[in-house]
This record gives sequence, C-alpha cells and structure tokens, in this order.
Amino acid sequence: MKIIIKDFIKFFCIITVFIIIIINFFVEMKYDMNIIGYIKNSRPLTIEQRDWLMNHENLIYCADQNAPPLRYIDEDGQYKGIVVDYINALSIEIGTKINIKPMLWSEALVSISNGKTDICDMFESPKRKKDLLFSNPIYNLRGVIVISNDELDIKSYVDLDEKKVATPKGDYAIEYLESKVKNIDYYFTKDIYDALILLKNGEVDAVIGDEPVISFFISELNISNITQILDPPIYEKDVVFGVPRSKYTLLDIINKGIFNIKRKNQIEKIQQKWFGISAPISKKNNERKIMIIVGGVIVLSIIITYVLYFFNKRLKIEVQRRTEELYISNNNLQTTFDGLTHYMVVLNNDMKIVNINKSFCKFINRDKESLIEKVLEDVCCDSNKKLIYEEVGKLVKKTFINNKEHNKKIKYKDNVYEVHTFPLKDKQKNIIKALVMIKDITINHINDKRLLQANKMAAIGQLAAGLAHEIRNPLGLVRNYVYILKMKMNMRDEKVKKAIDTIESSIDKANSTIDNVLNFSRISNTGKEKINMKYFIEDILELEKKIMKKNKIFVKIETDNIEININQESLKHILINLVTNAVDAMPNGGTIKIQCKKLNKRLYIFCSDTGIGIKEKDLEKLFNPFFTTKGIGKGTGLGLYILYNEVEKLGGEVKVYSKLDEGTTFEIYIPLEMGSKKL
Ligand code: ADP
Ligand code: MG
Repeated sequence: MKIIIKDFIKFFCIITVFIIIIINFFVEMKYDMNIIGYIKNSRPLTIEQRDWLMNHENLIYCADQNAPPLRYIDEDGQYKGIVVDYINALSIEIGTKINIKPMLWSEALVSISNGKTDICDMFESPKRKKDLLFSNPIYNLRGVIVISNDELDIKSYVDLDEKKVATPKGDYAIEYLESKVKNIDYYFTKDIYDALILLKNGEVDAVIGDEPVISFFISELNISNITQILDPPIYEKDVVFGVPRSKYTLLDIINKGIFNIKRKNQIEKIQQKWFGISAPISKKNNERKIMIIVGGVIVLSIIITYVLYFFNKRLKIEVQRRTEELYISNNNLQTTFDGLTHYMVVLNNDMKIVNINKSFCKFINRDKESLIEKVLEDVCCDSNKKLIYEEVGKLVKKTFINNKEHNKKIKYKDNVYEVHTFPLKDKQKNIIKALVMIKDITINHINDKRLLQANKMAAIGQLAAGLAHEIRNPLGLVRNYVYILKMKMNMRDEKVKKAIDTIESSIDKANSTIDNVLNFSRISNTGKEKINMKYFIEDILELEKKIMKKNKIFVKIETDNIEININQESLKHILINLVTNAVDAMPNGGTIKIQCKKLNKRLYIFCSDTGIGIKEKDLEKLFNPFFTTKGIGKGTGLGLYILYNEVEKLGGEVKVYSKLDEGTTFEIYIPLEMGSKKL
C-alpha cells in the first residue's frame, strides 16, 4: 500500500511538471514570457500602481525624432511611426496619457537617464542598465551595416577596423562593437539620414544603424542602386522600454500594458498598418518560436520516455512479484500433492502423465522424471499391478467423455483400492485434464472384518460361558454321587476302583477344559493385571497339550519366576498364536522353546521351534492379514496380524528369524512401564 501511494505521488508530480511545461511552452510562444511572468502581468493594476499613476500624470515618452518608420516627424510636423502607435496603445492599456517628446537620439538617452522623461524604447545594454530598468520585449530589431557597392573590403563588422563609419550619436551599435572591433573611425551624426548622406558622398566607408530606418532612408535618398546592406546583420535583439531606476513601479505598470497589447494582438495590427503585413517585425521571432518548439519537444520526449520507463519498470516489478507468488503457490501445491499418502496422478486426454505425486512413484517403483509425458498403461504394463491401471484407464476415459467425477472399488490380490477420477476444467468448463486418486483401503476393509470377527468372538464367548455354567452343575452332581458311590461300594474290587478313578479323572479334565474356555473367552479389556509368567505360559500350553502329545512335540519353558503387570488378553493372544504356529510347523515332532526375561523394565519373549521354517520371500508378508501357507480350512492368516497389532498396542516390537527346514524364532519386546523406550 505504501509503495502504491509513493508511486502515485511520483506519478502525480511528473504529470504536474508535464502540464506546467506544456502551459509554459504555449505562454512563451504567445507572450514571450514564462508562466510566472504571465501570472504577474495578467492581473489588473494594483491599488499602489493606480496611486502611482495618479501622482505621475502626463508621463513623457522620448525618442529619436527622425527614425522612420519607427518614429519620425512628418512634413506636417506630426510625430508618428510604429512605436508612436504602440505608445498610444500602451497609454490606453494603462489608462494614463503619455506625452510624446521627439528629440535627437543622444539627447533622448541623456534625458531618460536623468529621469527627466519616463519612457524610451531601446536595446538593453550594460551601460544603460546603470541608470535604467528594462521592460519585457516589445519588438525585434536588427543592427546592420550599409556600404557603397564599390566597397570591396567590408564583408562583415570585423572588417570595420580602421574604417570610417558613420552612425547616429548614442546608437547601440557603437557600444556593441566597442569590445569587438578596436579601431573604428566614427563619424557621429544626428541621425541615420545624415550618416547615409556621408556615405553617398564617399566621406565614410560604411554606415551602421537599425535596419528598418536604414532601409527607409535608402529608398528615400534613392541610393539603393549604389549601396548595399550587408548580410548577416551585426546583431538581432529585442527592443524594450527603458524607465529611470527610480520609477520601478512604472516598469511593472508598463509590463502589464505590454502583456495586454500582446494578448489583443495589437502589435500585429500596427504592423499591418505600416507594412501591410501581420508578420513580426523581423524573422528572429520565428527562430525564437522554433527554438521554443524544439526545446518543448525535447523536454516532452524526455518526460514521455521517463514516464514510459517508469511504467515499464513498475510493470516489470509487478510481473516479477506475481511470478514469485505464482511460483510459491505452485510449489506449495506440489508439496501438498507430493505429501499426500494417496496415490495421485494427473493425465491429459492422450492418457499421458502430466504430474504424479511421490506416493504414486513409490507405489510403482519408478522416479518421476521417467514417468512424465508417458502413457500410464505403458509405464505400468510390466508392473504386477497392471490390472489396476486397466481399470483406472477405463474410469479416466469415462471422465473425459462425460466431464464428471467417478469412483470405483477395485480388489486386487490381498488388497482393496478405491479409485477416484476428477475432471480438471478450463475457464469455459471444458475438461482438459483428469486427476486420478487411488487410495489403499485394505486396512479399513480388514478393520471392518476384524470388527465382525470380534463381535462373533464375543458372542461365542458368551455362549461358551453359558454352556460351561450349564455343564458345571451336572458335573458337580456327578462328582457328589461318585463320592457316595465310593463310600458304598467295595473299593477292594479292582474293577470298581478303576471305574470310579476313571470317572473322577474325567470329571477333573472336563472341569479344567471348562476353565480354559471360560478364561479364553472372557470379554477383552484394556486393564492391567499382575501375572506370573511361568504359570501363564503353562496355562496356554495346556490348550495345545493333546496335539503336542500326539505329534511328539516337547516344550521347554525357561523363565525366571517373574511377575509382571500387563494386559492379560493381549499377552494371551500373543502367546497362543506363537505356540499354535510353532505346533503347526512341526507335524513330525520337534521342540518348542519359550524363554522369558525381565530386563531394564522390558519383557523379552523368545519363542523358537525346530519346524519347517519360512521361505525368505514370505518373510515380508508374514504379518499381512490373510497371509497363510496353510490349506483351506486350516489357516486364516490372521494369527500373526493379530499378534502384531497386540504387540503394537502394548508399545513393543516383533522380529522374526527363520531358516528353511531348521526352524523359526520370534523375538518380542514389550515395555512394562510408560515411557520405557522402544527398541
Ligand atoms: P495361519 O496360522 O492361520 O496360517 P498366521 O498369521 O498365524 O496364520 O501365520 C501366517 C503364516 O506364517 C502361516 O501360514 C505360516 O506359513 C507362517 N508361519 C507362522 N509361524 C510360523 C512358524 N513358527 N514356522 C513356520 N511358518 C510359520
Ligand atoms: Mg496361525
């Protein structure tokens, strides 16, 4: 926000400068002054200025009495000329009468310097500046040299050295040439007319003076065929009004008058009257305007270039900023895409991979670079998951056809996948790509099954408990009556004794079986109980006693007499599964060795057998649910999966070591206290 305000201020300043320059340019063109001068001079006379005029009635304009067409006394004795008309116009503008006093030029200069007169038109010069103040320009004049046609030496003013030159006394040309040409032999005359007479008579080599006056007299004297005006002129300058220094208020008043005359184009009207043309008195004005135009164009070009450069720079910075934002946002999106555990891939309508996430790459065991721009079914054709991609392909095609999302559950080997396809659309809502999201939902599937199984187990448990209770009562009766029979019968009879002993031991066996069923089917809880490991293991083994005897399996229990605090249910599941698997692995007999140790607040259980062992390729699938090598109806493939989950629940770990035809060892570590480190 701060940057935008800063930019706006900067831009506003540039535009303001730009507008001021344009206005200044036009003001300069029209009024020969800058904006400040324009503002100053365009205001009406102030009270102070009016008062000044009231106190100085009858201002006096003095000037050369014989410098036609600028100012001169005609045959009727009337003083007239361009400047006289101009003075009349000025008199109207400032609302004060200006008296006109013609004199010799040299006298006019003296009288204005002494303050005896008020206004005189002249060139500005350092010498004159000592006594006078100067107004804004009124018109333009050139100083020129006239020579006779047979004069060959003089080509420009530098050739005037050591020449005889005639000029009216006090002419500005004298001051101008003073520092430039050292030895001019001047002949001062009262006016140009006299100077030209000297030239005509061959008494001087050249005449210098104001161009329009010289031209006028040349034609009047009819000497244009014997004289020539040298080109280029000596100088070309603005003519201004001079006023005595003491009358500075008058200067401001005159400037306002000049401004108004210019505004009303009066100078053009006066020119038209005298020359029949409305062009400026000399061409210098044109050159000046061309200079102003060229200057204006250069300044404008610089400003426009700067503005363009400035905008271009801003645009570049903005584009850079947006690109960076886009990059970060894209990066964030890609990180999220890669971080998801779902397998995700974006396909175009040629079924080529546009983007693929890390999980998917891992799933098909390929790196991302080798997959981009490849057709999905092609890169996966050698994979054992080909079936899945065929199904995915069908679903993606369907999405491209009807521009809708689709989903489907696909069962493949032991796993279940949920496949979603989404259309990715452009602005016109047309599908351009499709996003495929594959989720492995095997665990959810299994959890559902497990829940079902757990419910079944709980139901069986309740049933078993009820049944055991029902059997226990008649068994009690049988035990009582056997006792009575024992009292009454002749126990010396061997046959009777054997029969009664068999009945008694059968009753005991039935009782202990009922105890086992009741123990095993007790509803699972998460609480901990104190148990003696040795007795606990013996109880478990009791369940498999019969089959172990049949298959000639020996059991070695090596456990310290340790008591631990643990969830009985979990430990029971762990041990039963270890023992049943070991028994199943030794159909032709062998030895099961169970070791238990309590070390560093951890319980260690080692269970090894001398059975058939496990193939190496099966080792990694061992804990997968439903993985079994046993025949139909024999194995469920859930035993080790349950064991793994129970160990996990207790915060422990399982390891397996196995060798084919030699045997298998399971090592289990369980932390016994909260905070005991996992291995
Ligand atoms: P099930 O016993 O129902 O087959 P389990 O999850 O308990 O399921 O065991 C999975 C598989 O692991 C068994 O089918 C068997 O191939 C193998 N296995 C487990 N324990 C042993 C063992 N002690 N010796 C050899 N193979 C074993
Ligand atoms: Mg098993």
